Amino acid sequence: MHVLVLNCGSATLKFQIIDTDAARIAADDDRCLAKGLIERIGSHSLITITVAGAQRVRMDAPLRDHRAAIDFVLRWVVAPDSGIEGIQAIGDIDAVGHRVAHGGERFQESVRIDEKVIDGVEECIELAPLHNPANLRGIRAARELLGTGVPQVAVFDTAFHATMPEQAYLYGIPYQHYRRHKIRRYGFHGTSHRYVAFRYRRMLEIERDDVNIITLHLGNGASACAIQSGKSIDTSMGFTPQAGLLMSTRAGDIDASVLEYLSHKEGMSLAELDQMLNKNSGLLGISGLTDDMRELLEEEAENQDRRARLAIDIFCYRVRKYIGAYFAAMSGADAIVFTGGIGENSPEIRRRICVGLDRLGLIVDAERNSRMSGGELGEITTDDASIRAFVIPTNEELLIARDTVRVVSGLPRPR
Ligand code: ADP
Repeated sequence: MHVLVLNCGSATLKFQIIDTDAARIAADDDRCLAKGLIERIGSHSLITITVAGAQRVRMDAPLRDHRAAIDFVLRWVVAPDSGIEGIQAIGDIDAVGHRVAHGGERFQESVRIDEKVIDGVEECIELAPLHNPANLRGIRAARELLGTGVPQVAVFDTAFHATMPEQAYLYGIPYQHYRRHKIRRYGFHGTSHRYVAFRYRRMLEIERDDVNIITLHLGNGASACAIQSGKSIDTSMGFTPQAGLLMSTRAGDIDASVLEYLSHKEGMSLAELDQMLNKNSGLLGISGLTDDMRELLEEEAENQDRRARLAIDIFCYRVRKYIGAYFAAMSGADAIVFTGGIGENSPEIRRRICVGLDRLGLIVDAERNSRMSGGELGEITTDDASIRAFVIPTNEELLIARDTVRVVSGLPRPR
């Protein structure tokens, strides 16, 4: 089955075409046939496409909206006469899987898209005003272009965290705000946390109920998740992705009263404060240099830049604190798992996060850790460590494709 996986942002479209079905899933033999990114949708768009076994192709085209972008993918990437090398192998699209940011309390797992689901995703717009509208545009456009005969599935970034208990998801504000407005912790990156937990379980050949780990998705956005008996019981992002860890441009946890104080001192509006928290804070805000962890590490090493070091230190310290908190919340965990651009590629950041955790039994093996710096999967702790640490590259698109196959074919969730 050829599954088109779509991840629509406000002006971007990420896509993959994955060849998968029940047999391929069972054999762990799914194949990515093509992937790409379309940026600056709405003006002169930049398109990057990689077809399996062929060179990466870059081009530009004026793409008005997400419909035009998906149409482009269907015409140029899927169509056999596109002229792009390797394309002939792809052929028709059998199903579409959409990444959807927010499913609220309504969507607790992946679902086949129909009018009712579209209404439900629309209702969640007020919870995710930046993301859900773009996801919806993608869903509508794909239905228009491919027809309702091609099944489509929504995979929600929040769904994996639907198992959190009330004590983890409620904030300490008057309960009525939860009842009336559904203000609570939802958590995000659910597909990534779920994927690496699945890979961990397969790697160790254990049952889902035996998965007791802390997963750390450290990319531009970053979140930690406490997974007990295979279920998310707590996560660091909250009502929005702004909460928790320090991120590339997001502040993460902050005393909410700072906002009132700042609005008074600086005359900042709510919109300006929100912009500050999401776009001008985090690694960028502390360092004053860049939001890119790689560049910060270079600045620190080459120029001993004090604020670059501070930004890195705050980032690592905050992750370490969440690890400690989740150890207590879960009454201990068997392993921690690093993933995301930083978690997968930076031995130095992993090392600094784990400083002092040897007292808990998590002893990093310097040699194993340094070997893992470019998408490898493996352990980074010593053989005698009582708490193990792994690097497991995430692959949200693959999980979306597999969920799509599962939902469309009525297959049960793997045990
Ligand atoms: P997103 O959350 O947008 O998907 P990624 O998971 O791609 O982001 O992570 C991007 C981050 O990973 C950037 O801050 C980048 O600097 C960082 N990163 C990638 N490679 C390395 C590396 N070798 N060392 C340190 N940081 C890295």
